[in-house]
Amino acid sequence: MSEGIESTEVTRERVLARIRADSRFVLAAHESPDGDALGSLVGMQGLLTALGKDSRMFIAPEDLPLPYEYRFFELDGLIQSPPADIAQRTVVFLDCGNIDRNSASVLHEGRHLLNIDHHHDNTRFGTLDHVVPGASCTAEIVWDLMHGLGVRPTAEVARALYVGLITDTGRFMYENTGPRAHEMAAELIAAGVDVQDVYRRLFEEMPPAKLTLLALALGRMRRFDSGELTLAALSAEDFRDAGAEDSFSEGIIDHLRAVQGTKVAVLVRELSSGERIGQHKVSLRATDDDVDVSLIAREQGGGGHRRAAGFSTTLEVEPLIEFLRRAIAAQLHAAPAPA
Ligand code: AMP
Ligand code: MN
Ligand code: MN
Repeated sequence: MSEGIESTEVTRERVLARIRADSRFVLAAHESPDGDALGSLVGMQGLLTALGKDSRMFIAPEDLPLPYEYRFFELDGLIQSPPADIAQRTVVFLDCGNIDRNSASVLHEGRHLLNIDHHHDNTRFGTLDHVVPGASCTAEIVWDLMHGLGVRPTAEVARALYVGLITDTGRFMYENTGPRAHEMAAELIAAGVDVQDVYRRLFEEMPPAKLTLLALALGRMRRFDSGELTLAALSAEDFRDAGAEDSFSEGIIDHLRAVQGTKVAVLVRELSSGERIGQHKVSLRATDDDVDVSLIAREQGGGGHRRAAGFSTTLEVEPLIEFLRRAIAAQLHAAPAPA
C-alpha cells in the first residue's frame, strides 16, 4: 500500500516513470468488464506495445466470450490465466475500484501493482495508486498517460479509448461529462475513430432477445415511496424465457432512471451462471446529488460512483427492496444535524 494520498500530479509522474522503467506488464480490469474496463485495457495494451514493452491482457475465462457489443475488439496479447513469470511483471489494474473485483488473486503477486482508476471510493490497493475521481472514465486517464508518454494513438487505440469514453459518460450526457471529455473525443476522432461505426456496434445490431428482456423488465417496473425508488427485478427464469445472456440487461436501468419523480433507479438481476449462481447483482443509479448510491452499495460490500454503483447480494428480492427503501430514506429524509 502506498502511504497517504498523494496528489494526482504526483501519482501521474510516478506511473509514467514506472511504465518507462519496466519492460514486462500484465493488464487487468474488473470482472464482467464494461466498455470502460475493456476500452482502457485495450487502449493501454496498444500504448505499451507501441513503446516496445512485453504486455499481456488478462481476461478471466468466465468473462469470455465478451458481450456481443464488445466482440469487435482485437484482443492481441490476451491471456486467460496469469503468466508463470507474474512475480517479474508489473500488473496494471484498470477501472477496478477494489482488488476483489478481479477474480485472479495470483495477480496480486506482481512485482508492482499499478492501480489506475476513477472511482472515488477506490480502496487504493496498489503499490502505486493513480486514482482520478474527476476523470469521466478510466480511458480518459489512459489517454492522459498516453500524452505523458509521447505516444500517438493508432486508430485501434483511439477507438478503444473512445468506447470507454462514450459508455461511461452515457454518450456525453451524464454529469461526469466536462470539457475534457469532448476534447478527448475530438482528438480521438481526428486519430481515426469512425463514430457512426462504433455507435452501431455498441448500441444497435442488437440480438432480438435483448429487446425481449427489456420488454420483460419494463413490465416488471415497480415504484416505491412516491416513485423515489423505481425498480425492476429479473429472475434467472426471465433470462431463460427471453433467451437472453446476463449481459443483455445492459442499458435497462437507464429506462428506469428516466421515469418522472425517480431519485434512485435499481435493476436487480438473478445470476444464472458462474460461482455466484442464485445471488442477485444490483445496479443503482441516482438522478441527482440528493442520494449517493455508492454509499448504499458500500453497505453491501460493493461500490461505485455517487450516481452509478453496484453490489452483489444473497438477499432475496423483497428484503432487498426493504433495505433499499430504508437506505434511500436515510439519505433523503435524514434528520438535520443538531446545531
Ligand atoms: P453497473 O451497475 O454494473 O453498471 O456498475 C455501476 C458502477 O458501479 C460501476 O462504476 C462499477 O464499477 C460499480 N460497481 C458495480 N458493482 C460493483 C461491486 N460489486 N463492487 C464495486 N463496485 C461495483
Ligand atoms: Mn467499469
Ligand atoms: Mn469506469
